[in-house]
Amino acid sequence: LPESNSRSTSQHIPKPSPEHNVTVVDARNISKSFDGMPVLKNVSLEVRKGETVSIIGPSGSGKTTFIRTLNGLETPDEGYIKLNGELSFRKDPSQPNLKTQLPQGNQIKNIGMVFQQFNLFPHRSVLQNVTLGPRYHRFGSAQELEQEALSVLEKVGMREHADKYPHQLSGGQQQRVAIARALAMKPSIMLFDEPTSALDPELVGEVLKNIESLAREGMTMIIVTHEMAFAQRISDRVVFMEDGAIVHAGTPPEIFEHSDEPRVNRFLSDFN
Ligand code: ADP
Repeated sequence: LPESNSRSTSQHIPKPSPEHNVTVVDARNISKSFDGMPVLKNVSLEVRKGETVSIIGPSGSGKTTFIRTLNGLETPDEGYIKLNGELSFRKDPSQPNLKTQLPQGNQIKNIGMVFQQFNLFPHRSVLQNVTLGPRYHRFGSAQELEQEALSVLEKVGMREHADKYPHQLSGGQQQRVAIARALAMKPSIMLFDEPTSALDPELVGEVLKNIESLAREGMTMIIVTHEMAFAQRISDRVVFMEDGAIVHAGTPPEIFEHSDEPRVNRFLSDFN
């Protein structure tokens, strides 16, 4: 094997038989402007079940805005989004007679999102933060929901802190609770929006470790991140965005080792 190949093989974690033939997210030609400034220009992305897709690129390139359109936190000006095969958003200005379809609540709850700022409810305990969503959606009895909450907290190593309040936790621990809270909704896909950029450097690793184990378990995920080594290690595919568009996409070796796209290389060289 050429040297670059053997290196990439050892860095890239193979996953057990992901069901890559099922499409979970199908976003097509998503465009959006803020105050007349185009922020997304015809962005299309398909994500298959079990895939981990990282979105990288310079600040302001539209990465966050794009993933927020997927769960209805931003409304595109144009484009369509299918989640698990069902249309969740459609708007086509060239066909004014076609009714605009807006995101539906029950499709949105199928998407878990973890934000840069952990956004936990400050006056609720860790356990209550995790059970609130499932309780609201009546996923089960109070006792069942508590058991399930404890088991997702266990997964992120936070079970022993179930009775604490957010202010008693480190940023890394709060973010792990935020991950558990999203998982408690049994999402078919998890979106991570720069999940470690608000953390002190020594706390980044524990959160990345949780995300990495989700990837290994076959969770479908889209991760906006500036952690390049992490993206390289866990992604099935890496998408590079610049100036509101997907400029390049490929496997980690294609992006990180032998990309011939100058904009990607210029961006990556800033990290070395
Ligand atoms: P990235 O995640 O790549 O850093 P963003 O999606 O956060 O990029 O932002 C893309 C552009 O959209 C930036 O110029 C940003 O200032 C602008 N933007 C994002 N959200 C809003 C908003 N709610 N109102 C106005 N401009 C916004």
